Amino acid sequence: MSSVSTRSKDCVQQRKIAYDMIVRGYSPKIVQIETTLTYRQVSLLKKKAEENMCVCANTSRSSRSGASIIHNRVTKIEASILMLLYMKLAILNINESIDLQALEKSHDIYQSIRDEIITLYPVQMEFLTITDAWCLAKEFRSEEAMFDKCSECNTSYFTSSNQSTLIDCPFCQVSGH
Ligand SMILES: [Zn+2]
Repeated sequence: MSSVSTRSKDCVQQRKIAYDMIVRGYSPKIVQIETTLTYRQVSLLKKKAEENMCVCANTSRSSRSGASIIHNRVTKIEASILMLLYMKLAILNINESIDLQALEKSHDIYQSIRDEIITLYPVQMEFLTITDAWCLAKEFRSEEAMFDKCSECNTSYFTSSNQSTLIDCPFCQVSGH
Protein backbone atom coordinates (compact mmCIF):
# COMPACT_ATOMS: atom_id res chain seq x y z
CA MET A 1 0.00 0.00 0.00
CA SER A 2 1.38 3.42 -0.86
CA SER A 3 1.95 5.97 1.84
CA VAL A 4 -0.62 8.29 0.22
CA SER A 5 -3.45 5.79 0.49
CA THR A 6 -2.38 4.91 4.05
CA ARG A 7 -2.58 8.58 4.91
CA SER A 8 -6.02 9.00 3.39
CA LYS A 9 -7.20 5.87 5.22
CA ASP A 10 -5.88 7.34 8.48
CA CYS A 11 -7.69 10.56 7.73
CA VAL A 12 -10.97 8.72 7.14
CA GLN A 13 -10.43 6.89 10.43
CA GLN A 14 -9.72 10.14 12.30
CA ARG A 15 -12.81 11.77 10.81
CA LYS A 16 -14.92 8.81 11.92
CA ILE A 17 -13.52 9.10 15.47
CA ALA A 18 -14.07 12.87 15.39
CA TYR A 19 -17.67 12.50 14.21
CA ASP A 20 -18.44 10.01 16.97
CA MET A 21 -16.86 12.33 19.54
CA ILE A 22 -18.96 15.27 18.33
CA VAL A 23 -22.12 13.18 18.55
CA ARG A 24 -21.05 12.13 22.04
CA GLY A 25 -20.87 15.79 23.09
CA TYR A 26 -17.15 16.54 23.37
CA SER A 27 -16.24 20.17 22.76
CA PRO A 28 -14.70 20.83 19.31
CA LYS A 29 -11.41 21.80 20.95
CA ILE A 30 -11.08 18.36 22.56
CA VAL A 31 -12.02 16.64 19.30
CA GLN A 32 -9.19 18.57 17.66
CA ILE A 33 -6.70 17.54 20.35
CA GLU A 34 -7.68 13.86 20.26
CA THR A 35 -7.82 13.48 16.46
CA THR A 36 -5.28 16.12 15.31
CA LEU A 37 -7.83 17.30 12.72
CA THR A 38 -7.96 21.02 11.95
CA TYR A 39 -10.50 23.46 13.35
CA ARG A 40 -12.12 23.65 9.92
CA GLN A 41 -12.38 19.85 9.56
CA VAL A 42 -13.96 19.53 13.00
CA SER A 43 -16.36 22.43 12.31
CA LEU A 44 -17.53 20.78 9.08
CA LEU A 45 -18.11 17.47 10.87
CA LYS A 46 -20.01 19.26 13.63
CA LYS A 47 -22.22 20.93 11.05
CA LYS A 48 -22.87 17.55 9.44
CA ALA A 49 -23.78 16.02 12.81
CA GLU A 50 -26.11 18.92 13.56
CA GLU A 51 -27.78 18.50 10.17
CA ASN A 52 -28.27 14.84 11.02
CA MET A 53 -29.75 15.99 14.36
CA CYS A 54 -27.56 13.66 16.32
CA VAL A 55 -25.48 15.95 18.52
CA CYS A 56 -25.69 15.40 22.26
CA ALA A 57 -27.77 18.08 24.02
CA ASN A 58 -24.93 18.94 26.40
CA THR A 59 -22.38 19.92 23.78
CA SER A 60 -22.39 23.66 24.13
CA ARG A 61 -20.31 23.90 27.30
CA SER A 62 -16.63 24.37 26.56
CA SER A 63 -13.62 23.05 28.47
CA ARG A 64 -13.49 23.96 32.17
CA SER A 65 -10.76 23.62 34.73
CA GLY A 66 -11.11 21.81 38.04
CA ALA A 67 -11.67 25.25 39.59
CA SER A 68 -15.03 25.71 37.93
CA ILE A 69 -16.01 22.02 37.89
CA ILE A 70 -15.34 21.34 41.59
CA HIS A 71 -16.67 24.26 43.62
CA ASN A 72 -18.70 22.73 46.45
CA ARG A 73 -19.50 19.43 48.20
CA VAL A 74 -22.03 18.26 45.61
CA THR A 75 -19.78 18.87 42.62
CA LYS A 76 -16.91 17.17 44.44
CA ILE A 77 -19.11 14.12 45.05
CA GLU A 78 -20.11 14.09 41.39
CA ALA A 79 -16.51 14.41 40.20
CA SER A 80 -15.49 11.65 42.62
CA ILE A 81 -18.17 9.21 41.43
CA LEU A 82 -17.25 9.87 37.80
CA MET A 83 -13.50 9.64 38.26
CA LEU A 84 -13.56 6.62 40.58
CA LEU A 85 -15.53 4.78 37.89
CA TYR A 86 -12.97 5.94 35.33
CA MET A 87 -10.10 4.66 37.45
CA LYS A 88 -11.80 1.25 37.84
CA LEU A 89 -12.75 0.88 34.15
CA ALA A 90 -9.58 2.20 32.53
CA ILE A 91 -7.45 -0.28 30.65
CA LEU A 92 -4.85 2.24 29.56
CA ASN A 93 -2.50 3.83 32.07
CA ILE A 94 -4.47 6.96 32.99
CA ASN A 95 -1.35 8.58 34.43
CA GLU A 96 0.00 8.76 30.91
CA SER A 97 -3.01 8.99 28.59
CA ILE A 98 -6.74 9.56 28.51
CA ASP A 99 -8.70 6.33 28.02
CA LEU A 100 -11.66 7.64 26.00
CA GLN A 101 -13.52 4.35 26.01
CA ALA A 102 -13.34 4.04 29.80
CA LEU A 103 -14.20 7.72 30.19
CA GLU A 104 -17.34 7.35 28.09
CA LYS A 105 -18.45 4.21 29.89
CA SER A 106 -17.89 5.96 33.23
CA HIS A 107 -19.87 8.97 32.06
CA ASP A 108 -22.80 6.72 31.04
CA ILE A 109 -22.84 5.06 34.47
CA TYR A 110 -22.46 8.41 36.25
CA GLN A 111 -25.40 9.75 34.24
CA SER A 112 -27.56 6.74 35.21
CA ILE A 113 -26.67 7.13 38.90
CA ARG A 114 -27.39 10.85 38.74
CA ASP A 115 -30.74 10.34 36.97
CA GLU A 116 -31.71 7.72 39.56
CA ILE A 117 -30.81 9.99 42.49
CA ILE A 118 -32.76 12.92 41.05
CA THR A 119 -35.80 10.69 40.49
CA LEU A 120 -35.69 9.45 44.11
CA TYR A 121 -34.62 12.69 45.77
CA PRO A 122 -35.20 15.93 43.89
CA VAL A 123 -31.88 17.46 44.95
CA GLN A 124 -29.86 20.16 43.29
CA MET A 125 -27.16 18.47 41.25
CA GLU A 126 -24.92 19.80 38.56
CA PHE A 127 -24.50 17.80 35.41
CA LEU A 128 -20.92 17.01 34.50
CA THR A 129 -20.61 16.71 30.73
CA ILE A 130 -18.28 14.38 28.83
CA THR A 131 -16.13 17.48 28.22
CA ASP A 132 -15.92 18.02 32.00
CA ALA A 133 -14.96 14.35 32.39
CA TRP A 134 -12.18 14.76 29.82
CA CYS A 135 -10.91 17.92 31.57
CA LEU A 136 -10.77 16.09 34.92
CA ALA A 137 -8.98 13.12 33.32
CA LYS A 138 -6.50 15.55 31.79
CA GLU A 139 -5.88 17.19 35.18
CA PHE A 140 -5.30 13.74 36.67
CA ARG A 141 -2.87 12.85 33.86
CA SER A 142 -0.95 16.08 34.38
CA GLU A 143 -0.86 15.50 38.17
CA GLU A 144 -2.99 18.57 38.89
CA ALA A 145 -5.60 16.21 40.36
CA MET A 146 -5.43 12.98 42.34
CA PHE A 147 -7.37 10.43 44.35
CA ASP A 148 -7.22 10.80 48.11
CA LYS A 149 -8.52 8.58 50.91
CA CYS A 150 -10.45 10.00 53.85
CA SER A 151 -9.01 8.99 57.22
CA GLU A 152 -12.46 9.34 58.83
CA CYS A 153 -14.75 7.36 56.50
CA ASN A 154 -12.05 5.45 54.60
CA THR A 155 -13.60 6.40 51.24
CA SER A 156 -11.59 7.47 48.19
CA TYR A 157 -12.46 10.76 46.56
CA PHE A 158 -11.20 12.87 43.68
CA THR A 159 -9.46 16.13 44.42
CA SER A 160 -7.95 18.80 42.18
CA SER A 161 -5.30 21.33 43.08
CA ASN A 162 -7.34 23.85 41.06
CA GLN A 163 -10.66 23.21 42.84
CA SER A 164 -12.39 26.20 44.38
CA THR A 165 -13.58 24.56 47.60
CA LEU A 166 -11.81 23.88 50.89
CA ILE A 167 -13.72 20.63 51.47
CA ASP A 168 -11.47 17.60 51.85
CA CYS A 169 -13.64 14.47 51.87
CA PRO A 170 -17.01 15.28 50.29
CA PHE A 171 -18.59 12.10 51.65
CA CYS A 172 -18.48 12.77 55.36
CA GLN A 173 -19.37 15.71 57.56
CA VAL A 174 -16.10 15.64 59.49
CA SER A 175 -13.97 17.24 56.78
CA GLY A 176 -12.71 20.76 57.35
CA HIS A 177 -14.70 23.33 55.41
ZN1 LIG B 1 -14.82 11.02 54.64
